[in-house]
Amino acid sequence: MAKQKNLQLTTCRICGAPTSPANPDYPFCGDRCRERDLGNWASESYRVAVPITAEDDIPDMADDMADPDLSEDET
Ligand SMILES: [Zn+2]
Repeated sequence: MAKQKNLQLTTCRICGAPTSPANPDYPFCGDRCRERDLGNWASESYRVAVPITAEDDIPDMADDMADPDLSEDET
């Protein structure tokens, strides 16, 4: 057990299983937990990206573009 003193033993932030910097999947215990963490981030940002305002708040810009006031026919 004395060897583990140098390994800075930490726990997987996903499942809590012990892991260490020597683990290629550190700070996770395995690639399964690492991918799960990535999935958490992806779903998290996806949720944030959803706009809170209702679609009705967006002004209809198509109406302005069809404005008949632009009469350049007066030559
Ligand atoms: Zn884990």
